[in-house]
Amino acid sequence: MKIKKNKNPIFVTEPSLAPLEDYVELLKGIWERKILTHNGPLVQKLEDEFKNKLSLNSFVAVSNGTIALQMAIKALEIKGEIITTPFTWVATISAIKWEGCTPVFADINHETLNINPDLIESKITEKTVAIMPVHVFGNPCEIDKIHKIANKYNLKVIYDAAHSIGSTYKNKSVLQFGDVSATSLHATKLINSGEGGGCVTNDQKIKNKLERIRFFGHNNKKDIVEDGFNGKMTEIHAALGIVNLKNYDLILKDRKNKYNYYLNNLSGIPNIKFQKINKKNTNYSYLPIIFENETQLLSSVSALNKVNIYPRRYFYPSVNRFNQILDYSSCKISEDIANRILCLPLYHSLDLDSIRNICKTIKSNI
Ligand SMILES: *Cc1c(COP(=O)(O)O)cnc(C)c1O
Repeated sequence: MKIKKNKNPIFVTEPSLAPLEDYVELLKGIWERKILTHNGPLVQKLEDEFKNKLSLNSFVAVSNGTIALQMAIKALEIKGEIITTPFTWVATISAIKWEGCTPVFADINHETLNINPDLIESKITEKTVAIMPVHVFGNPCEIDKIHKIANKYNLKVIYDAAHSIGSTYKNKSVLQFGDVSATSLHATKLINSGEGGGCVTNDQKIKNKLERIRFFGHNNKKDIVEDGFNGKMTEIHAALGIVNLKNYDLILKDRKNKYNYYLNNLSGIPNIKFQKINKKNTNYSYLPIIFENETQLLSSVSALNKVNIYPRRYFYPSVNRFNQILDYSSCKISEDIANRILCLPLYHSLDLDSIRNICKTIKSNI
């Protein structure tokens, strides 16, 4: 089958961007006020708008999602082993390590791709202080099971919710769960501020502590009361986040439509499997497909590249295999999935013709 080559390259994602005029309008205010950072009015507005949109008790805006994870660990004052998933972006691990903690891996469920709660308990030692699960591709973890274990062993739970703005659990934003949830507003995420992130907690004391940590450990009287660092979001990033958030409902709906469009076009290919998602809870933010083996994946990638389409191997390799920063410990399921999973292009400005083309290319190659 002859497949048309795209004039412009199609990458795995493209940032959702509000109309430039809307952004410029907010920038004018920044130029007038001459306040660029330090918890300025737009950062406060962004926090309020995220709280309202997602019905959250708090949203502490920070400079990126990795810092949000580190701040969560700092704020909870934990030191020791943190049980996490090997199927994630390396930032989950680097955040744990930068805070002087040790990542310990519990393997994933091969269908949901999230940490398998049944494997957590056997990883607990007297040094374990927390569990840090990831809602992979926006599909929420088995939160009840995880919290049961955490309660039994008196462990903190920090969610890496980098993919999860728009995901829900028990009809609430999934960011509401855990001692702290840390999310990302990076350019590649569902809602972006260029770079950015946020910490969400229901505990007022932890929220206040997060705000101090973000600002060098200053309290309101500008005394340094604890170890902090610079985790502040700028007004320029906040402005972008605010205008992009206006399209939240549109973006969410569009992802779901396109996800299902992909599903229809790829259904009937026995060699391809999908992440097992909870349709009520996911935000459909990524489109991962799982091949039977890496050879099939590589041949699909090269066929797609030939027609100017560039999917991405998320997450590859399984992070437990980064042997220059970690001692290897085996996670067979994550390593196996990582070798044969591919994320296909999925973003707001992607058209249905392109999706049909992508599916045709994969079909004719398998
Ligand atoms: C993007 C991402 C992060 C880090 O977020 P940044 O804002 O890029 O620092 C952490 N964890 C996961 C799973 C991510 O995908």
